[in-house]
Amino acid sequence: MNAPAVTGPAWDLSQEYESVGDPALENDLKALTELLDQIEGLNGHLGDDGDVPTAQSIAKLSEEATRLLSNVSTYTHCLLSVDSQDDAAQKLGGRLQNFSKRCGDLFEPLSQFIDDASEGIIEDYLSDPDVAPSAFLVRHSRARRHENLTLDEESLVNGLSQDGIHAWGRLYDQLAGSLQCEVQRGNEVETMGLAQAAGLMTSADDTLRQNAWRGINAAWEAHEEACAASLNSIAGWRLEMCKQRSRHQPVHFLDAPVHMNRISRETLDTLIAVAEEAKPLAQKAALLQARAYGKDGFGPWDLRAPAPVLESGGENAIEFNDAVAVISESYGSVDGAMSDFVRMMIDNRWVEGTVGPRKAPGAYCTGFAKSRTPRVYSTYTGGQSDVITLAHELGHALHSWVMRDLPDSQTSYGMSLAETASTFGETLVRDNLLARATTNQQKLDILWEEMSAFTAFLLNIPTRFEFEKKFYEARAERPLRPEELKDMMSSAWESWYGASLAEADPLFWANKLHFYISGLSFYNFPYLFGYLFSLGVYAQRASEGGGFYERYVALLRDTGRMTAEDLAEKHLGVNLKQPEFWKGTIDSLATRVDAFERLLDDIADV
Ligand SMILES: [Zn+2]
Repeated sequence: MNAPAVTGPAWDLSQEYESVGDPALENDLKALTELLDQIEGLNGHLGDDGDVPTAQSIAKLSEEATRLLSNVSTYTHCLLSVDSQDDAAQKLGGRLQNFSKRCGDLFEPLSQFIDDASEGIIEDYLSDPDVAPSAFLVRHSRARRHENLTLDEESLVNGLSQDGIHAWGRLYDQLAGSLQCEVQRGNEVETMGLAQAAGLMTSADDTLRQNAWRGINAAWEAHEEACAASLNSIAGWRLEMCKQRSRHQPVHFLDAPVHMNRISRETLDTLIAVAEEAKPLAQKAALLQARAYGKDGFGPWDLRAPAPVLESGGENAIEFNDAVAVISESYGSVDGAMSDFVRMMIDNRWVEGTVGPRKAPGAYCTGFAKSRTPRVYSTYTGGQSDVITLAHELGHALHSWVMRDLPDSQTSYGMSLAETASTFGETLVRDNLLARATTNQQKLDILWEEMSAFTAFLLNIPTRFEFEKKFYEARAERPLRPEELKDMMSSAWESWYGASLAEADPLFWANKLHFYISGLSFYNFPYLFGYLFSLGVYAQRASEGGGFYERYVALLRDTGRMTAEDLAEKHLGVNLKQPEFWKGTIDSLATRVDAFERLLDDIADV
C-alpha cells in the first residue's frame, strides 16, 4: 500500500514513559499497590461512626492512587489507539483492569461515608485544606443522599444488577455485534454487519443510504421482541429503583440524569421548551438539506449524509502544517494566547495525526494526570473535516490546559459542559474557513456540516428525549409491546420533524444503542444542552469584544466546581432556567440557516 499523500505527525509519549517496559511505569504501579494497601487498612476504621481523620486520609490517598492509575491507563490507551495489536500494551491493559476493580471496591466506603455523615461531620471533614477543594463534589453527591438505601440493600442491589439491568444491556450489545443485514447495492444484495451498513449511511449516494437504513431496520425488526424485552426491563428496573429510593421524598426517573449533568429539572424543562419554539427554524433547515439533494423531505437515512457534490474533481488535500496555521490563526483571533497554545501542542509533539493500518478510528483528547499535559489523537488525511476535527480536539486540550494547576477534585466536569471549549474551537475555525472559501462547494461543505449539527441537536435529540420520557411514563403502568413502541417512536419523529419529514423511523428505539446503555438513562438532552450552551458562549464573544479571553478562561476553570447554572450566572450573567440565553443562541443560528438558504439559491442560479 502506498503512503497517503497527506498525513500528520506522530505524537511523543516519551515524556511519560519510554515504553511499556520502562521501570518508571513499574514504579508507578508499585506505588499504586502500596497506596491501595494503605486504603484497605484504613477502610476498616471508617465504619466506627464518623472517624473524620481516617476519611481525610483515605481521600488524599485515593486521589494519589487515581492519579497513578489514570496515568498508566492513559498511556496504555494511547499505545493501543495507534496500534491495536500492540501485545505488550494489551497485556498491560489486562493488568490494569484488576487495579481498576480494586480501586472501585476500595473507594466505595469513603463515598458512602460522604453521603451518610451528618452535616457537622462533613464540615469537619472539609476543614482539611487538602480535602477542602472537593467541597463541590461532596455537596453535589450529598444532594441525592435522601435516595440512599441501607448499606446492605445498596450492596444487594449492586450485586443483583450485574445479571439484572446490566445483563439486558449486554444482551443488546451482543445482538448488535452479531446481527447481519442485507443491503441492496446497485443490482446486488450484499450481506454485512450492522457497523458496515451504518457506515454506508454516510455515503453521498441517496439510494444507497436509504437501502442501508432499510436493511438495518429489517434486521432489527426480526429481533423486536428481544429488544422490547430488554428496553422494558432496563426501564422497569430503574422505575422500581425510583420507587424503592422514594422513602424520604419522591424520586423521579429524570432526577438521576439531571443530577449527573449538574443541571436542574427547571433548566431541562426550559431547554426543551426553547427547542420546541425553535422547531420551525430547525424544520426549515432540514427541508433545505433535503432540497440540496433534490428531495421534498428529510429521511432518517439523511442524518449523517455528506454535503452533495456539486463539481467533480474533489477537494484539494490540506497539508498538516497548513491546517495548523489555519487553526492557530482562528484561535488567535480571540487572543494570542490561544494561537500560542496551538503552536505549543505541535512543538511539543502532543498531537498524533499519522495514518496507519492498525490505528483505532476516530479522534479524541486525553491527558496525563501526573504531568497534567494533554494529548490529541487523530488520523489526519487532509480533508476539511480533518481540520475541523483537529480544531475540536484542540479545544478539549485547551480546556484541560487552563485547568492544569487546579486540584484533581476540581478537574472533571459533567457531559453538559464537556463540549464547551471543543465546539467553541471548532466554530472559530469553521467561520474562518467559510470567510476564506472561494467556491460554492467549499461553502456548501461548511454550511452543510453546520446544518447537519443544527438539525441533529434541535430535532433528532428532542425526538429521542420525547420518546424516552413518554416511554418511562407508560412503562410505569406495564411493559409495552413492540407495536406500541413503534407507534410511540413514529409520533415522536412526526411531532419534531413535522412537514420536513419524508418518513419516520419506527424502529429507532431498537436500532439506537443509546437507549440500551444500562449505566445511564436519557443519554440525549446533554447533547442539546452542550451544543446550545457552547454556541451561546461563542455568541458572547461576538458581543463582548475586549477582555473576552480572560473571562472565557475563568469560565472554563470553573467547569469542574460548579453547577452549569451557577457557572452561567457567574461568568455570563445569564439565568439558564429562563429562556432568554437559549433564545439568543437560536437567533445566532438563524443567520446561519439564512446563509445556507442563500447559498442554495446561488447554486440553483448557476
Ligand atoms: Zn468533543
